[in-house]
Amino acid sequence: MKIVILDGYTENPGDLSWEGFEQLGELTVYDRTSLTDIGEINARIGDAEIVITNKTPIRRETLDACPAIRYIGVLATGYNVVDVEAAKDKGIPVANIPSYGTEAVGQFAIALLLEICHHIGHHDKAVKEGRWASSPDFCFWDYPLIELSGKTMGIIGFGRIGQVTGRIAKAMGMEVIAYDEYPNDSGREIARYVSLDELLAESHVISLHCPLFPSTEGIVNKDSIAKMKDGVIVLNNSRGPLIVEQDLADALNSGKVYAAGLDVASAEPVRGDNPLLTAKNCIITPHISWAPKESRQRLMDIAVDNLRQYLSGSPVNIVNA
Ligand code: NAD
Repeated sequence: MKIVILDGYTENPGDLSWEGFEQLGELTVYDRTSLTDIGEINARIGDAEIVITNKTPIRRETLDACPAIRYIGVLATGYNVVDVEAAKDKGIPVANIPSYGTEAVGQFAIALLLEICHHIGHHDKAVKEGRWASSPDFCFWDYPLIELSGKTMGIIGFGRIGQVTGRIAKAMGMEVIAYDEYPNDSGREIARYVSLDELLAESHVISLHCPLFPSTEGIVNKDSIAKMKDGVIVLNNSRGPLIVEQDLADALNSGKVYAAGLDVASAEPVRGDNPLLTAKNCIITPHISWAPKESRQRLMDIAVDNLRQYLSGSPVNIVNA
């Protein structure tokens, strides 16, 4: 059985092992595959039965061109790169990794927030440049420093990662409110569920943790921003297209939104003309929330286990059943 991994580098830049997959079939690993050249994607899959992708798109035309495909595994939680409906039409199960990085991604959302509150990177650089040594006072700061205790964190999409983020925010003394289509008991222990409009109006910090669906694409746009508090902070380490980037850039530049912390962009890698690159008070990191080694090892183990379970006839983590 042939297994092809289309874009293995970010999951395993050399500090993990592909041995688990090697034990299950004849494995070919590509570090990267074009995200846009369907011909290259199809040629690399060829007659492989098992396709593993992280961000390489698998569209209907690829499924048409590669009829040997029996199973698609996504090396991520979000599976929007695969046309799951087209796969379902062809009876091809698509498996994701639901929870390998829940703690790390929640931690990173808070890291973005703390950076906005304290600008630790900036102040460290200023100290190394000699500004503290030459300061007339015992301290200096270049940005407003923000205390979070007593402020309200609004979380859109209160699933696994949203709830971890909420738990940490609550531990810092924040009030946590959440909007989710499916409220649950574990969420109620952390947050008060509210409508989307209430969340937009009441939150000092809004953190996005919903998946990218047609219903959530562009959920932060000029209309929803207008409903937010003046000076709100927006965080997104879920998926870039949840935000209409020009609208957020305009709101940052006008001061309506005080700051944004983003680990994702509408196109990745980020395009040089992305308006958020030059927007005021916008911190952008290169989609690294998921990437601590501990999380990637967990991801590897679950991806191998997903395939093993599929091959033994009891598939798990299928998103298009
Ligand atoms: P999850 O399925 O546990 O939670 C998602 C929540 O969003 C669910 O509770 C769901 O009911 C809710 N939701 C769905 N549609 C909604 C809507 N229209 N409005 C409001 N809520 C809605 O998923 P998770 O493990 O918490 O992951 C969330 C997202 O985080 C993933 O889909 C992925 O896009 C992103 N993610 C990013 C990284 C990264 O490195 N930046 C890593 C992992 C996951």
